[in-house]
Amino acid sequence: MDHFLYRDGILHAEDVALPEIAAAVGTPFYCYSTATLERHFRLFQEALNPLPNLVCFAMKSNSNQAVLRTLANLGAGMDVVSGGEYLRAKAAGVPGDRIVFSGVGKTRAEMRQALAGGIRQFNVESEPELMALSEIADGLGLTAPIAIRVNPDVDAKTHEKIATGKSENKFGIPIARAREVYALAASLPGIEVVGIDVHIGSQLTDLEPFHQAYAKVAELTSVLRAEGHDIRRLDLGGGLGIPYERSNSAPPLPLEYGQLIKDTLGHLDCEIEIEPGRLISGNAGILVSEVIYVKEGEGRDFLILDAAMNDLMRPSLYGAHHDIVPVVEPAAAAETRGFDVVGPVCETGDTFAKQRALPHLSPGDLVAFRSAGAYGAVMASEYNTRPLVPEVLVKGDQFAVIRPRPTFDEIINRDTIPSWL
Ligand SMILES: *Cc1c(COP(=O)(O)O)cnc(C)c1O
Repeated sequence: MDHFLYRDGILHAEDVALPEIAAAVGTPFYCYSTATLERHFRLFQEALNPLPNLVCFAMKSNSNQAVLRTLANLGAGMDVVSGGEYLRAKAAGVPGDRIVFSGVGKTRAEMRQALAGGIRQFNVESEPELMALSEIADGLGLTAPIAIRVNPDVDAKTHEKIATGKSENKFGIPIARAREVYALAASLPGIEVVGIDVHIGSQLTDLEPFHQAYAKVAELTSVLRAEGHDIRRLDLGGGLGIPYERSNSAPPLPLEYGQLIKDTLGHLDCEIEIEPGRLISGNAGILVSEVIYVKEGEGRDFLILDAAMNDLMRPSLYGAHHDIVPVVEPAAAAETRGFDVVGPVCETGDTFAKQRALPHLSPGDLVAFRSAGAYGAVMASEYNTRPLVPEVLVKGDQFAVIRPRPTFDEIINRDTIPSWL
């Protein structure tokens, strides 16, 4: 459920009509709904209740300061994957003891930064990383709380570019080697084992892979405890999928996911951490764009928009589907025809959809890409010197620009000319 609905024939974000924002900000722009962000975050908290838990928003899905602050105000933790994200989380007001640090390639500088600033836990993905962290923490006279990310070798049945829990993926330590690596961790200075971490992939639309992975984590918890490790936290990752196509069957709900966690892990008396990204931010955002031309080709009609692959990369990167809807609601009986929906970038890959059924549209009309709040603005670039797409946050009848569109002068002046030129 989200808060982007037609009212009196015009698509609104909460109580604000999208043409009003378009007139103020220009197109294209991302628009987020506070009510949807808050609702999705609370759904996870309620789903885990009464287990002690911390919901850590995977901020790589959407790291705008205003989005982070909205969630931080509800008590959210953050899952960060870089030193930059760590600083963004701190800047948004998230205390270090609510930040977990994930990722296969943490640098020594990033470890130092997070240890000095305060960190809830590092999710360690390899032995070399463990050794480096021990050395850095010990050198600073500090202790690094860690969970080891285990790779449970389950098939998440999702797109190959976002599956992470198979043995051939680069993530985590094979679960069969976990005992050995935990023993090493326990022997190292500057390291304190606090839990186990697992994350098997993104956009999962079936609970079965989670079930398999969490059953393995439950078993591993008992094994490690028997060997003297104080396993008191279980970080279960993110990955719950969202319905990108309204017409398709719905993926599992947070409540069902929470029940699965209780069933598989609830008896272990551990604090549960989860790291949802997409399910919190995905349907809380849309990308609004204007039709530039309707081009009738040979046997194919093109809808040429002012948004492009640099603004929303998912279709060209993963072949991802986004529902595209006109901002002015078409009549129920309106005829549709197939369009290739494309942007102005000089790449054939700059195609959002092929033969998408849409009603009649004219230059100047607005359209919205649904479910664009996750892995949308964060992946945007300025390819073709197209200014970085702005972001807008709506709350009730108010809206604010939370990242302005840069001017061409700002873009050009970021480059510097060497003295010899
Ligand atoms: C990407 C990622 C997530 C979030 O995944 P979603 O599908 O957005 O929920 C959580 N944890 C880790 C370690 C990740 O890499």
